[in-house]
Amino acid sequence: MNATDQLVKQVHNFNAGPSILPKEVFEQAAQAVLNFNNTGLSILELGHRTSTFQAVMDEAQSLVKELMQLDADHEVLFLHGGASTQFMQVPMNLLNEKDTAAYTDTGVWANKAIKEAKLFGKIEVVCSSKESNYTFIPKDFAVPNDATYLHITTNNTIYGTQWQNIPKTSVPLVADMSSDILSRVLDFNAFDIIYAGAQKNMGCAGVNLVVVNKNKLGKVNRAIPTMMDYRVHIKEGSMFNTPAVFAIYVSMLTLRWLKKIGGVAAIEKINNAKAALLYNEIDVNPLFKGTTAKEDRSKMNVCFVMQDATLEEKFLAYAKENGIIGIKGHRSVGGFRASLYNALPLESVEFLVSLMKEFALKHG
Ligand SMILES: *Cc1c(COP(=O)(O)O)cnc(C)c1O
Repeated sequence: MNATDQLVKQVHNFNAGPSILPKEVFEQAAQAVLNFNNTGLSILELGHRTSTFQAVMDEAQSLVKELMQLDADHEVLFLHGGASTQFMQVPMNLLNEKDTAAYTDTGVWANKAIKEAKLFGKIEVVCSSKESNYTFIPKDFAVPNDATYLHITTNNTIYGTQWQNIPKTSVPLVADMSSDILSRVLDFNAFDIIYAGAQKNMGCAGVNLVVVNKNKLGKVNRAIPTMMDYRVHIKEGSMFNTPAVFAIYVSMLTLRWLKKIGGVAAIEKINNAKAALLYNEIDVNPLFKGTTAKEDRSKMNVCFVMQDATLEEKFLAYAKENGIIGIKGHRSVGGFRASLYNALPLESVEFLVSLMKEFALKHG
């Protein structure tokens, strides 16, 4: 194999985030770095207040509205600071100090959201699967009627669980959708705030999507720092300060791609097929087993281990030799985690499954 062959050797990227994006998005983004839309300028040197960039921002926002079928009350923002900043920005904008917000404890990210929210008001953790190391989504819990909102993490990236049914509640609903945004059909208007770091399922690192019901704002009595106030960003069209120009462009390209292939309903079918294929192999292959309750299995992050843990390093090496990237499990679960985000082709899952079968023939 010569150096060029090595460069083009096919890899299958199962990384949990930042993660795979469609190949055409990489190509278009690369071209825009050199010469953006034949302007003779790189996207990296383009003024954010130019009409050229305004068109990118407008298209990104309208694609989100269209793909999520948002109503007129829901505003689309592209903000800085990752999903982690939303852990504080949500309660800062919604929760009064003397009031209570309800949080569901379904993993590491949910816990980080809880920790930050406690700085702004009373937090009631209404359910938790901590005792089982977060292997399931709690089903029976009550939300206080007077809670300001209920917070859920729709997909638990580290543990590989996902809310299959969004809880029905009379209080406003807030969701961290970082790792399953735009992966399945949901009634997005049922949420009052949705936030997601872009780098898992809709773009590259550096920007997060926030969808907010504007009717829920302006009800807290604290002073909100300008950069943290959603109303400022709505008014300024996500351009109060310099937005993440390149990251927003990459999100726009990814959203365009999603629309082109048929939108959320179309990608959901593909995501279902990918997840079914891999979980089926985990269940039938004698060497492997899943780590979560079957009914709560995530279609985005598939966590599994080996019956004989001493084989795990061998399988990891075998997968790596064959171009599989990013399947080592998070340290708090161990084993393996294969992330099957929107842009990951079905062929990559078929290939991983074929390696699992071959490995079982050799070591079964
Ligand atoms: C990755 C992740 C985060 C953190 O996102 P940042 O953009 O790095 O702050 C938060 N929540 C969930 C569910 C995640 O998967």
